[in-house]
Amino acid sequence: VTQVLSDCLFCRIVAGEIAADVVAETETVVAFRDVNPQAPLHVLVVPREHVANAASLADTVPATVADLVLVAREVAEKGGHESYRLVFNTGADAGQTVFHAHLHVLAGRPMTWPPG
Ligand code: 5GP
Ligand code: ZN
Repeated sequence: VTQVLSDCLFCRIVAGEIAADVVAETETVVAFRDVNPQAPLHVLVVPREHVANAASLADTVPATVADLVLVAREVAEKGGHESYRLVFNTGADAGQTVFHAHLHVLAGRPMTWPPG
């Protein structure tokens, strides 16, 4: 999915044009609370750069995929969570609704498997 970056919700959050509850930031990624939390801790970690999904990010800037995971760990640990679930929804049928790569960090309740 290609789009004008000014039309991308997460690009606008990264740019500070749309407010978000930012919990962590690095040179490459920004972490903010999901507006519709599915667990007591539900944070999205996104690359500053616009890339449609995690696989494309791995193709173009693989080190940033590691940054997403490291910041996810930091956010979970800061929240006192030793267990957490990391999710990359990739493609509409997998539940991706925002086509700017993002890593969901979910914690604070027991998780079931398989996911819905
Ligand atoms: P996806 O379904 O693409 O994996 O995840 C997109 C996530 O973005 C959803 O969990 C949704 O609740 C969250 N979201 C959508 N719009 C906004 C917004 O304006 N602000 C924040 N903080 N989260 C949003
Ligand atoms: Zn974007």
